[in-house]
Amino acid sequence: MKIANFKNYSSFYLKLIYNRIMDLELLKNLCDTPGVPGVEDEIAKIVFKNISSLCFSHEVDPMGNHIFQVNNKIEGAPTILVDAHMDEVGFLVSNIEANGMLRVISLGGIDPKLFYGQRLTIWGKKNVESTVAAIPPHISGKNDSVTQVEDCLIDTGLSVKEVLKLIKIGDQVTFSTKCEIGFDRVISKALDDRVGLFVLIESVKALAKKKLNCNFFVSASVQEEMGLRGARIINSRVNPDFSIALEGTVSNDLVGVPQYKSLANLDNGPEIRISDKYLIADRKLNSFIEGLAKKKKIPYQLTAKNAGGTNSTAFQVTGNGSKATVLSVPVRYLHSPSSICKIKDIKNTIKLLTEIISKINTFQNAK
Ligand SMILES: [Zn+2]
Repeated sequence: MKIANFKNYSSFYLKLIYNRIMDLELLKNLCDTPGVPGVEDEIAKIVFKNISSLCFSHEVDPMGNHIFQVNNKIEGAPTILVDAHMDEVGFLVSNIEANGMLRVISLGGIDPKLFYGQRLTIWGKKNVESTVAAIPPHISGKNDSVTQVEDCLIDTGLSVKEVLKLIKIGDQVTFSTKCEIGFDRVISKALDDRVGLFVLIESVKALAKKKLNCNFFVSASVQEEMGLRGARIINSRVNPDFSIALEGTVSNDLVGVPQYKSLANLDNGPEIRISDKYLIADRKLNSFIEGLAKKKKIPYQLTAKNAGGTNSTAFQVTGNGSKATVLSVPVRYLHSPSSICKIKDIKNTIKLLTEIISKINTFQNAK
């Protein structure tokens, strides 16, 4: 049994219980490792290391999606694909100024209001810490306008000579914040979608030794944050009947936000999505999942919204299509340097997903 060395646990016993069922050190590793769209290699290594020996086969497609066939093929059984994307929102170095200061472009949706003054890590030849240059208010005067990400200066404090030795255009840049786990919660950058990836890995570990009555595939996909790019070429290889995208989803359960706008709430279990801007999830698949959750007394929440989007859209409409839905861990402050989610919700998402995979062969009309 693995005991992670985390401070801040509210009790020794809580740590013991959670580590007995989940490898929280792995979650921290996934969150702290950089992987902006197109640079997912280090994340892929972690996924491979954790599940490749448990799976029947593995392939990497031309874009860098890692696809694992978990169990040996069962003729006539339904095929289910479970995906989590490896990329996180982040930045690329786009320019080096004459004095060694840098400019970056953002990859994925990042609110410029939360960029100013942040610490960033530039993953060059060596990791270089930097700050988004913030002009003191007594110099800048009263200025309420928001500077766009690409117009901000990134200051490493190094000389131009040192900068040119270590950093080049195209190097990936991430928020510097480190993942902290304790008090039944996780606070970290990149919970979208490392928490999904964590659920995927832990579920494969839990199911690998069981006899399954379906063909179980998992994918760790690339470039979701840039328009679901990686996911669009996965169906043609797997040809799934069912697909589930695992996500960290927006939780807006804050003081002052009306309940009907709070979306998925922390502590209330995984979100089963009915709709978002680009998806109408399969209603029969959703009610099948609801039935399993009720039977196993796993809390869950349904959301119907017209914003956001996930790889589920790609799995629903590419190749021969599939019955598609999204299962998510609720996360506050998505796409920010510090998101928050609950360990209890992660645990319940793993429980529900493993139940779905174990029972998907009983889905009515399943082939
Ligand atoms: Zn995501």
